[in-house]
Amino acid sequence: NSEKGHNLIHQLSEEVSRSICTGQVVISLSGACRELIDNALDAGATNIDVRVKENGTIALEVNDNGTGIDELNFPVLCKPHATSKLSSVKDFDQLSTFGFRGEALNALAALSDVTIVTKHTDAKLGSKLRFDNKGEIISKETVPRQVGTTIIVENLFKTLPVRRQEFVRNSRKEFLKMLNVIQTFALSRCDLRFICSNTVNGKRIQMIATPGGTSSIVNVCASLFGVRAEKGNILEIEEAIPDDEVRAIYGLQDRDDKVFEEIKIYGYISSCEVGHGRHSADRQFVYVNHRPVDYSKVCKIANSVYQQFNRGQYCMLILFIEVDPAALDVNVSPDKRTVFLHEEKRLFAKFHASLLKTFSQVLGSCKELPN
Ligand code: ADP
Ligand code: MG
Repeated sequence: NSEKGHNLIHQLSEEVSRSICTGQVVISLSGACRELIDNALDAGATNIDVRVKENGTIALEVNDNGTGIDELNFPVLCKPHATSKLSSVKDFDQLSTFGFRGEALNALAALSDVTIVTKHTDAKLGSKLRFDNKGEIISKETVPRQVGTTIIVENLFKTLPVRRQEFVRNSRKEFLKMLNVIQTFALSRCDLRFICSNTVNGKRIQMIATPGGTSSIVNVCASLFGVRAEKGNILEIEEAIPDDEVRAIYGLQDRDDKVFEEIKIYGYISSCEVGHGRHSADRQFVYVNHRPVDYSKVCKIANSVYQQFNRGQYCMLILFIEVDPAALDVNVSPDKRTVFLHEEKRLFAKFHASLLKTFSQVLGSCKELPN
């Protein structure tokens, strides 16, 4: 296309643009796992069992007891932008599912060997489907299975040799990140049972098993981290003083757009005596409207307040932020972990005030350190 020295703009072939894009949808083992758990949750699963082999380098398998997949959808399952969850742009405002772009299965198929075993609520038998890297079904058989879906991802990144090599080299670290992703889900959905195991040299090691059912955040914390709430190791975050007072103290302007009126926050933080971990990111979990997010500004606030009470350690933080869905933009990054929030400053002020209130309630037992 450089005829007569011209450098003509041309559209990339579908194949080239596809491999560029899919490589960005799923960039890591933990990202793959997150997408698969999102799908299981969207399907209404109450049991989610993640099994990996050799830290995920051989296989990642996510088993759920959700609705299963309707046979009519088999041919398009791993095709680009195939989704059952979004049909028009205006649906964005009312989005209640984790998935909406129809890209995850397509990307995984392009990057690995995908097998799906599923039985839909209406189906008599289960089906086992294998897909090629274009997302076409290459084999299909009927198999016995209870209602639900298993998605098996083998040889992740085999079509991107450099990334594959990097993944295999850092597989232990990647596996730990994946555990963190599952912990993140487990803390936000105490009603669900999450299980995770890793098979290394033929030996299966159970890493996570949350109780599910009617268990509370406190119970899930105990099962994940061995943190004992009954010993006063974690504190429930006290919702701060009313918004108008927060505004006054932090010098924030009053706004008249009523849409963004309510910001609710609740959750748990380590007590001042018992911090959890030397690294801040270890055990800090933030959710906006129940969506796990990377919100370093919020963690920074927690760390700076916590430092006033405990200089040696970081705090565990499990924080739920609830805002009007219209005040939130989730479609910022491919992994959906970045959010834009209107009136972010008000949230920060409220959170800061809430933490001070939480710790001031127990100040009898822990003194604020002098600066
Ligand atoms: P999205 O989640 O954005 O719709 P995905 O590529 O993740 O896109 O999934 C494509 C479609 O496959 C989903 O819309 C859903 O209909 C179906 N699907 C994927 N995983 C599951 C599952 N575990 N249970 C039921 N249906 C699933
Ligand atoms: Mg999805």
